[in-house]
Amino acid sequence: MPPASEKENYMIESYFLKQIGIVKSEIKDSKEMPIYGVSAQVIVYPEYQDGLDGIDENSHLIIFGWLHQADREKLKVVPRKINPNADEKGVFSLRSPVRPNPIAICSAQLIKRENNVLYLDRIDFIDGTPIVDIKPYSTGLDSIFSAKRPTEINPSSPPFNKGGMGGFLGENLPRTEIFQNMLFEAAHFHGEICVGLAIGVRVCYVAMKHLNTSLRDKKLKIVCYTKACVADAVQSLCGASNKRFTHLEPEDRVEFTKDDQKLIIKITSKKLNSVEEVFKLPYEEVFESVINPPLDKGR
Ligand SMILES: [Zn+2]
Repeated sequence: MPPASEKENYMIESYFLKQIGIVKSEIKDSKEMPIYGVSAQVIVYPEYQDGLDGIDENSHLIIFGWLHQADREKLKVVPRKINPNADEKGVFSLRSPVRPNPIAICSAQLIKRENNVLYLDRIDFIDGTPIVDIKPYSTGLDSIFSAKRPTEINPSSPPFNKGGMGGFLGENLPRTEIFQNMLFEAAHFHGEICVGLAIGVRVCYVAMKHLNTSLRDKKLKIVCYTKACVADAVQSLCGASNKRFTHLEPEDRVEFTKDDQKLIIKITSKKLNSVEEVFKLPYEEVFESVINPPLDKGR
């Protein structure tokens, strides 16, 4: 409890929000919504259309939804969609819709605008979600490349081989969906989806599994002897600045080092033609070899 003098200054107030628009999406049920959402539209009500002037100059927007059906009383929940076995946590440490003010945010690419309709590459709000605000996304303000997730902050979070996902969303998902989510994150850095990016995703997945590490662990060092697309995927998924990431001449190889472990991943020299192929192929066909050599202690 705060001291009495401070308590006197406490104000318990309610504020009115104006709904400025609504989501039009093919997904009607939140249980069916993929973690990263689907392409959808935001219809801004005509009386707010003037507020959209100039918005087309932005490639990406932050959309604020109001999840009117959410529970507003609970302060601790289990993030079921991410991991049904996770511990309960405070709602302000989670993206759960459950919270005193059920505001949801989603950063999305603005594909096009037609009058009062915004076409977005993805949004994880279901059909009919009220929209309360829209702001331009700013790389400088909003993007924190090296930000850490709970697995790095909380050492008791389960590591990869115990059902954890090394910091990635969706540890309870099938592998193909995990690949898709990683690809999606890597594309934010790379700027497009391509075969090389998909190869980088598989490289990172193997590294997480073999080294049982979060890719964002500060002790994980990476040297990519690959083409730029693969390197971009690895660098982005590892959240690694050049302190722990090096990109050298392509030899279809990535080396990871952490503590006294080293992993050398040799990528197939066979030409892979599509993202689908890269994700579908068995491990042995994507990689020529994956070896843990002893570390050279002489250095
Ligand atoms: Zn590429």
